[in-house]
Amino acid sequence: MYCPFCNAEDTKVTDSRLISESNQIRRRRECLDCKERFTTYEMAELTLPRIIKRDGRRDSFSEEKLRAGVMRALQKRPVSAEEVENALSRIKHKARASGEREISSEQVGEWVMAELRNLDQVAYVRFASVYRSFQDIKEFREEITRLENQITEE
Ligand SMILES: [Zn+2]
Repeated sequence: MYCPFCNAEDTKVTDSRLISESNQIRRRRECLDCKERFTTYEMAELTLPRIIKRDGRRDSFSEEKLRAGVMRALQKRPVSAEEVENALSRIKHKARASGEREISSEQVGEWVMAELRNLDQVAYVRFASVYRSFQDIKEFREEITRLENQITEE
């Protein structure tokens, strides 16, 4: 790491911390030559597992697709952008924490449903109906009943 002040090659790290929400590492550095201090931000090298699709094909974990799916379910629902970002962060954290190199798209779907269930019941049902691809109206009704029971129990 070159010093931005004098271009010296030797700098030392005086402090390192992980910014958990963005998965960045913030490092305080000090130049060994001119003694100037500066800060760098680096992406944590925490790769997300690959996704095994229903048909067996593999795909890279796409945060954009994940966000798009969640946003579609949350369309016109009273949920803040911050709540959505926090939910997405928790899902990515689970994916990384799994320690697996590959996880199934069903698994990711379950995590999304768990988040949506807490955020917004309507969005949850929207997502679940697409994701679980309910076979018929009976299956759908059963899920609604299950949800209703859950709410009244709380
Ligand atoms: Zn320097």
